[in-house]
Amino acid sequence: MPRTERLYYTDCYLREFEARVLRSEPAPNGFKVYLNRTAFYPASGGQPADSGMIAGLPVLEAVDERDEIAHILRQAPEGEGVRGRIDWARRFDHMQQHTGQHILSAAFEKIGDYKTASFHLGEDSSSIDLDSDRLGPRQIEEAEDAANQVVFEDRPVRISFQPAGEASRLDLRKPTAREGEVRLVEVEGFDLSACGGTHVSRTGAVGLILVRKVERMKGSTRVEFLCGGRAQQQARRDFRVLSEAAQLFSAALDTVPELIAKQSQELREEIRGREKLLERLAEYRARELWQAVPVVDGRRVVRQVFPAEESAQVKLLAHALAKLPGAVGLLGVKEAPTKLFFAQTPGGTSEMGSVLKQTLAKFGGKGGGGCDFAQGGGLEESRLEEALAFAEALVAGASRP
Ligand SMILES: [Zn+2]
Repeated sequence: MPRTERLYYTDCYLREFEARVLRSEPAPNGFKVYLNRTAFYPASGGQPADSGMIAGLPVLEAVDERDEIAHILRQAPEGEGVRGRIDWARRFDHMQQHTGQHILSAAFEKIGDYKTASFHLGEDSSSIDLDSDRLGPRQIEEAEDAANQVVFEDRPVRISFQPAGEASRLDLRKPTAREGEVRLVEVEGFDLSACGGTHVSRTGAVGLILVRKVERMKGSTRVEFLCGGRAQQQARRDFRVLSEAAQLFSAALDTVPELIAKQSQELREEIRGREKLLERLAEYRARELWQAVPVVDGRRVVRQVFPAEESAQVKLLAHALAKLPGAVGLLGVKEAPTKLFFAQTPGGTSEMGSVLKQTLAKFGGKGGGGCDFAQGGGLEESRLEEALAFAEALVAGASRP
């Protein structure tokens, strides 16, 4: 089987190339097209495949088949000679992320011997999994600083090839299991790795290396990062979000967290204050209602249906009624679903849970409760008044000797 010559192995900056079609085979989503040489990087080693065109046809996928690279095209190209062109923006982005990863991984090794177990280059961000869960924010910043220092120094990134036997004697960041010829990527004076990926030629081209997220897992730490163009785009988005927040507060950017903390504290206090006021209000209303009904058999039964707007108040009102001497509150709320609150002053002769149960058994709905307080609802709104009258009759019956 002839090998596909991987042009990106020696020249990561090659965007266009000419090649010969060796053969085309039908594939589930089109054709697998094999060329004698290609600049297309196939998905492998955590780096996604290149996209682009071959013979004017979009390349849907480039697949690594060890000796060969299969280009998936919707149709087979006509003729033997073809021109290929990779999507350079996508490729350069991948080069920035991948070289950035080598530098960042090496930096973690240098600051604390944290080893990179795996690398994932994603659509939006990339991540490495480190073999330790003992990294704190200080270690992360230290590694980020060391990595960016290497970027600022604009060191050369060199690609070379060595027989596997020779390579195993070199000081590789991670031992390689590859046989035959091994491709080495060296960040001068900082990192030496066996890698088949595409890389920038100097560290300066990586641009800023920005750690975005740190996720501690059992025995490992996932570090999400962005390099170059992605770091710039993210910094712009962050700035927009922060500016919007600052505008809402009419304040300077760096005072936003402090202002949010202050406002949440104020809001919590406001809510607590409002709850207290509602309780006080319920107490006054309860007394008013209690005084307006006659004493029968030593008790005052308050029976009333409230509109939906007062829903939040009614439960408080039932509890407030139960604090007054000899009171029974049979309260309903006209909302969907309807609500019922039955309460009595502790020591009263009725059993609120039982009164509610009997009422619901007759009028429908759900609910329950104990001796002095019960709540439920879900019966038809048009029958609320009738249900409360029924409950009052039960309460009156219970107090007859
Ligand atoms: Zn690599």
